[in-house]
Amino acid sequence: MKNIILFGAPGAGKGTQSAIIREKFAFAYISTGEILRSEIKKQTELGKQAEEIINKGQLVSDEIIVGMIQSFIESHPNEDLLLDGFPRTEQQARALDGILASQNRGNATVIELKVDKEVLMQRLLKRAEIEGRKDDNETTIKERFAQYEAKTAAVADYYKAKNAYVELDGEHGTPEQISVLLCKTIENL
Ligand code: AMP
Repeated sequence: MKNIILFGAPGAGKGTQSAIIREKFAFAYISTGEILRSEIKKQTELGKQAEEIINKGQLVSDEIIVGMIQSFIESHPNEDLLLDGFPRTEQQARALDGILASQNRGNATVIELKVDKEVLMQRLLKRAEIEGRKDDNETTIKERFAQYEAKTAAVADYYKAKNAYVELDGEHGTPEQISVLLCKTIENL
């Protein structure tokens, strides 16, 4: 079974590419950010807890996120997995290993979409105009980059050390052109 982590800095195109991939492959898909945004909209307990953290550009606690992922994986036992926005810390990556092992699902592979930081900032500011996400303003974006560098970049190293890491150019070309490379990579896994 495939357990794919679509990885990259904020604005790298994970959401856009996930949508294209899901038209071509039958993945059980989870975006932790999307779930949190929907919980905020519904003003659930979790949503209320997450709202302030997300609006500051910080990370929601590993405990909450891992619980979310665990129940998702357990409820999709026989499907290929596409994880978007998770894991974001080394602790989440280790927890994922444990969940996959307990479900006899094999290992995870990271596919990172690499994009220059200046380009990321421009993309996110443009997305702010279109989607109106509260965390897409310059101050919050800077904090999200800082969190990415401090906590999330280490996740790539963690999978590199396991030989379970592939890097793709997520910057040059249209989303469709990038998706062609991405789909080929997924087919070859
Ligand atoms: P995203 O839609 O993936 O950019 O996520 C938006 C926000 O949700 C992030 O800036 C975090 O505050 C929170 N979030 C999403 N996924 C995670 C995760 N795996 N760990 C911690 N926080 C997360």
